[in-house]
Amino acid sequence: DEGPVESWHKSVCRYCGTGCGVKLGLTKGKVVRVKGDTAAHNKGVICIKGSTLADLTQLEGRLTVPKIRTEGRLVETTWEAAMDLIASKFKENIELYGPDSVAFYGSGQLYIEESYTANKLFKAGIGTNNVDGNPRLCMASAAVGYTQTFGKDEPPGAYADIDHADCFFLMGANMYECHPPLWERMMIRKKSHPQTKIIVVDPRKTKTAEHSDIFLPVYPGTDLLLLNAMAYVIVKEGWYNKTFVKEHINFHNGQREVDFATYIRFLEDYAPEKVARKLGIPPRQIEEVAHWFATSQATMSMWTMGVNQRTQGVFLNNTLNSLHLITGQICRPGATPLSLTGQSNACGGVRDTGSLSHILPHGRMVANAHHRQEMEQLWGVPAGSISPKPGYDAVNLFKAMGEEKVKAALVMCTNPAQSMPNLAEAKKAMEKCFLVVADVFEDTETTKLADVVLPAALYLEKEGVYGQSERRYQLIEKLMDPPGQARSDFDILVDFAKRLGYGNLIQYSTPAECWEEYRNLSAASKYNFKGITRERLQKERGIQWPCPDENHPGTVRRYIQGDPFVQEGREIQFYGKPDHRAVVFLRPYIPTQQQLSEEFPYYLTTGRVVEQWHTGTMTDKIPALSEGSGRGVFVLHPSDAKKLQVAEEDLLEVSSQYGSMKGKVKISENETPGVIFAAFFDNKFLINLIVADNYDPVSKEPEYKVTAVSAKKY
Ligand code: SF4
Repeated sequence: DEGPVESWHKSVCRYCGTGCGVKLGLTKGKVVRVKGDTAAHNKGVICIKGSTLADLTQLEGRLTVPKIRTEGRLVETTWEAAMDLIASKFKENIELYGPDSVAFYGSGQLYIEESYTANKLFKAGIGTNNVDGNPRLCMASAAVGYTQTFGKDEPPGAYADIDHADCFFLMGANMYECHPPLWERMMIRKKSHPQTKIIVVDPRKTKTAEHSDIFLPVYPGTDLLLLNAMAYVIVKEGWYNKTFVKEHINFHNGQREVDFATYIRFLEDYAPEKVARKLGIPPRQIEEVAHWFATSQATMSMWTMGVNQRTQGVFLNNTLNSLHLITGQICRPGATPLSLTGQSNACGGVRDTGSLSHILPHGRMVANAHHRQEMEQLWGVPAGSISPKPGYDAVNLFKAMGEEKVKAALVMCTNPAQSMPNLAEAKKAMEKCFLVVADVFEDTETTKLADVVLPAALYLEKEGVYGQSERRYQLIEKLMDPPGQARSDFDILVDFAKRLGYGNLIQYSTPAECWEEYRNLSAASKYNFKGITRERLQKERGIQWPCPDENHPGTVRRYIQGDPFVQEGREIQFYGKPDHRAVVFLRPYIPTQQQLSEEFPYYLTTGRVVEQWHTGTMTDKIPALSEGSGRGVFVLHPSDAKKLQVAEEDLLEVSSQYGSMKGKVKISENETPGVIFAAFFDNKFLINLIVADNYDPVSKEPEYKVTAVSAKKY
């Protein structure tokens, strides 16, 4: 307790995509108290991570001065010298090897104004689409899934649907630990409506699964079999919504439109009795969940990395959306698919600003000439300024660094030297590149590899907008000054643009001016949030887009009356598609490349623990969080422990085709036999060294969840 609070301030949690509204109590310029904001969508609930935000703002180990690597050591320098060096290196490479020899690798934690500025600078100025970032690793499959199904990215529904659903279908999502306020909201719903069913699909018996009504512990990598089998049962039993199918859906096999009869034939391979053995669950359970899904008053699906981080991530997302479409469990309160996000600003900052290597702002695609032309006009740059060639996605960007095709890169607000799969290769690649890293802390795995490090301001030491999973934009106001010479990523980017000669392109100099440009630009799209002014964001507790004018309250549910893009007289309109019909794709199950073999008879799967967030650069420095999080452990089922002749605390060596790691054994009944779990937050236990880097062919999101491994006592 640091004494009485001088003033309370409306803000947002720094961490996950739940985007909890918080109230921060300030005394003498320091955050001393944190509480959940009862006026926000999280209704005052925050998790253990959010409750330690005050500690986050007072951590030691901050980078306060720019540094340049000299004779192997990072040596303090001035901003002038650091920025001059960066600009000259980038210019030199662009001149000698072309614009595609440089890259920006960003983050779903940068503010919208920061990602937008980097994207504009690189794509419209420098002329390369080599703009990617860590959202590629977490929600690219969800983004492609929505875009293919509805013609537009971002979810149709919202957290508010939790209050109306009576069947929750949770797949590859440990909401109890990773999105606790949303879990709590679900529990409130269940308490007031005890008939509410919670279905959990996960290879691990997580805390979420423990609290479910039905738990389907499917074998890793097989769950598309489950979704197709559910569709089979729904159609066979006549539980699909015939009117909805007739009025709002097209069927597509990936090459062309097909009819409903073809869809039925496609599903025949997925009859429960045909797939149950591979899934590791009885056919009866598939029939039961299909029944609940289709016949409840309102079914809401939520999912995260267990679905997205897969080589069939896009197919899984398509098929989840399809189940809602064929049953008509969509476009009603409580009936909706809703992908949850891991990062605070992956949706608003990266998906909506188009800051990935294949997209442009507000749902436009790099490969689409008309979309490039629209953005060139909106950005006021000559025709042809934006390259028609999509840039490198995350995995291939680091490979390109290794092959010395990308020779200089600016990394902001992320830690790829811990988070990339097949990590040894990614780290070697970074060593070959002129690597500039802007970060808050000095000791991340990535700053250790940097040629130049730039001290960045922490959130609350700068202002900007976050956009969370449900299309909600919230402003974070500056409450304190950054330490030493640290600067906001926004200021660094504006300075960098000037030094590269793009001062005319990036004319704004404050985040508020940038927001003004960006919200006005959105009016030329179906994202339209022109009505979300800075002044409204200061006053209101977040606004959901579309929101075309200043009197518009924002849009909770899309594609229905109330969404400003749905024509009057139409109850439902999937306006992202030219004929206003959503698409049900016929998506076949294809086994993962990570096949089990005599050499690699187990599956390794990775994930988070409640106390830690991502690579732990922030949370692992906070004693209240780091102490209980259990580090350096492989968790396995008692039957596997017996087979491997290991006991609790023994050392286990786990190997994949990428390398070997040693960790302590933890035995848990909650693991599925044949599956080993490890958390990825710990920089003393870099599990990604042995995680596979195969990825979804469309979203390019890596398959962190399924790596074939061997295990033996060490
Ligand atoms: Fe922060 Fe996410 Fe926890 Fe909410 S759920 S308090 S946003 S970490």
